[in-house]
Amino acid sequence: MSLTTPALAGKLSGLQSSAIRDLLKLTARAEVISLAGGLPDAALMPRERIAAAAEEALRDPSVLQYTESPGWPGLREVLAARESARIGRAVPVEDVFVTHGSQQALSLLSEVLLDPGALVIVEDPAYVGALQVFRAAGARIVAVPLDGDGMRLDLLEDLLAAGERPAVVHTVSNFHNPGGVTLSPARRQRLAELSEAHGFWVIEDDPYGELWFDRPAPAPVASYSPQVIRLSSVSKILAPSLRVGWMTAPDRVCRAVELLKQGADLCGSALTHRIAATLLADTDWLTAHITTVRTTYATRARALVTATRAAFGDRIHCTDATGGMFVWADFTDGTDTATLLPAALDAGVAYVPGAAFAVSDAYRHSMRMCFTTADEATLTEAITRLSPAVG
Ligand code: PMP
Repeated sequence: MSLTTPALAGKLSGLQSSAIRDLLKLTARAEVISLAGGLPDAALMPRERIAAAAEEALRDPSVLQYTESPGWPGLREVLAARESARIGRAVPVEDVFVTHGSQQALSLLSEVLLDPGALVIVEDPAYVGALQVFRAAGARIVAVPLDGDGMRLDLLEDLLAAGERPAVVHTVSNFHNPGGVTLSPARRQRLAELSEAHGFWVIEDDPYGELWFDRPAPAPVASYSPQVIRLSSVSKILAPSLRVGWMTAPDRVCRAVELLKQGADLCGSALTHRIAATLLADTDWLTAHITTVRTTYATRARALVTATRAAFGDRIHCTDATGGMFVWADFTDGTDTATLLPAALDAGVAYVPGAAFAVSDAYRHSMRMCFTTADEATLTEAITRLSPAVG
């Protein structure tokens, strides 16, 4: 009898593994200083505080039980209070939905909001985790470039004027990954207005907003319209392994996501939800903790930006690093960052070429550098190594 190999779903044919993930395998060599990763610093994660909260939570046997699909109620209450303060409007507990990291919110939302072929607007360069999700949903993806004030809303308005009807506009509003920029207050308001006028969903993807360096991030896009779906997460302020993310969204979106969450994994972990609730509710401790993370990253970011500008002068243009985890740099002298990478690795430094985040533009002369996991001297050394490789 002849063997017939079973097929994978057709939608997989257009999907590729993340170029960054593949690259990270190459950069994991001990002698390479990697600016390529996108990870928060594990040394800054509050292990003892998490252990104490876990021990306390485990005294209650119900913490090991399944919990409600929208999340452990105690955590949703803490999050509703936090988001109400952030957004400047009372967010009811029913409008808060806890997910397995904010990445799961993106994935469930794409199923809830997108029919195959639906138009999704993303930023260029884009957060690749969102691109993967929207591609898997069979969306038609159109990219709108970033400038120093975030997404170019004039170009979004041109698309709308040309008759494009997006189902979703995705924006990383604060300290963009990978672009490093923040959406200006005027553009936030305009984006919310456009969403209400044209009837598209805005997904405001905000895992970095609390990691500001000089001044707090502007009021969220969600503060301008209750229709905006807002995502956040403890991954960058506490620890990614808790896998606690959340969204605030209108009730009918939350109920639709609930149906799909049941199919995806029934519910999150009451244990990590409870740990997150304990830490997020201890506001004095949390403020001090986040201040430590912010000021540590700010010092590292400044060292990287200073070294980069000193080494390359006007041959490079890089973001100021006002928060978050990344500096985006554009070579103005024609240096091709993908071609440069093997020489950079030989010199002992890694970064992610801009092409990895490209949707429409090629970003051949750009790169993303992450400053979170190395100290100032190491970051400066990374640029000292990169400089002769560029030549
Ligand atoms: N959105 C953005 C813009 C991110 O950079 C990340 C993580 N790199 C996520 C969402 C997902 O984070 P998590 O699932 O850990 O909350």
